[in-house]
Amino acid sequence: MSSPPGLPGLLDHLDAVRRLVGHRPMGLFVDIDGTIAPIVPTPEQATVSPAVARALAALSGGLSVVVLTGRDTAAARRIVGVAEIAYAGNHGMEWWEDGTATVDPLAEPYVGRIHRIAVHLGSALAGEPGVLLEDKGPSLSIHYRLAADPAAVRERVLAVLGGPEGAGGLLVREGKMLIEVLPPVAVNKGTAIARTLERRRLASVLVLGDDTTDVDAFEAVRELRAAGALEEALAVAVSEDAPERLLAAADYRLADPAAVETLLTWLVGEVVSGTSS
Ligand SMILES: [Mg+2]
Repeated sequence: MSSPPGLPGLLDHLDAVRRLVGHRPMGLFVDIDGTIAPIVPTPEQATVSPAVARALAALSGGLSVVVLTGRDTAAARRIVGVAEIAYAGNHGMEWWEDGTATVDPLAEPYVGRIHRIAVHLGSALAGEPGVLLEDKGPSLSIHYRLAADPAAVRERVLAVLGGPEGAGGLLVREGKMLIEVLPPVAVNKGTAIARTLERRRLASVLVLGDDTTDVDAFEAVRELRAAGALEEALAVAVSEDAPERLLAAADYRLADPAAVETLLTWLVGEVVSGTSS
């Protein structure tokens, strides 16, 4: 696999997580797709196991739990189904916290423009099977995992986005079988973590992710730790085929969402039993 030989498996180093639990308030940030939910052919099919949902709900009693995803918060809440925790959707441009939904003021002005791109792309790609457009308010996701020729569809989408009614001036970013269009603003999974740290005075952070958009989160955690803003922090890359950039920014790895479930279930015992004294 592509994991560098130096990146240790987290389940063999649980003492590192115990150290985090000893530094409260602690934040737990989890991505959804590919991290707590297995990758599935279409985004609507994503599910979180009952064990993971139970663990997140239980952990919310002792930790600040934030689901940090590229999905919008409505979809994230539907998939995860835990009311007690916070949701940062659209890579931190949209929040659902304590029963209140908000859109980041930097991102809000772009919602109309991004919707028009989604409509234009929809008609440009009409008749292209296996392409799925997700208009998520402040961002747009184009999934092509199910296309007969994913490479050709990717080229076509990028060509439309580069055209006259395309995404000029906006951010175009790629993930696993996915192209995203985002506002050109400095809001990402990393700034979402910094915002939570400030609001909740976190002393330690554990962050789990599997794809390129999680690099922002991993790098932010590393910088906050280096600057002394966090006492302890760990970034954990999930999956056997995580992008090199993510692995380079990670401290540990976990094989797949099943390993994440094992970790979270174990963590409930650590947090609830109060071994942090
Ligand atoms: Mg993911």
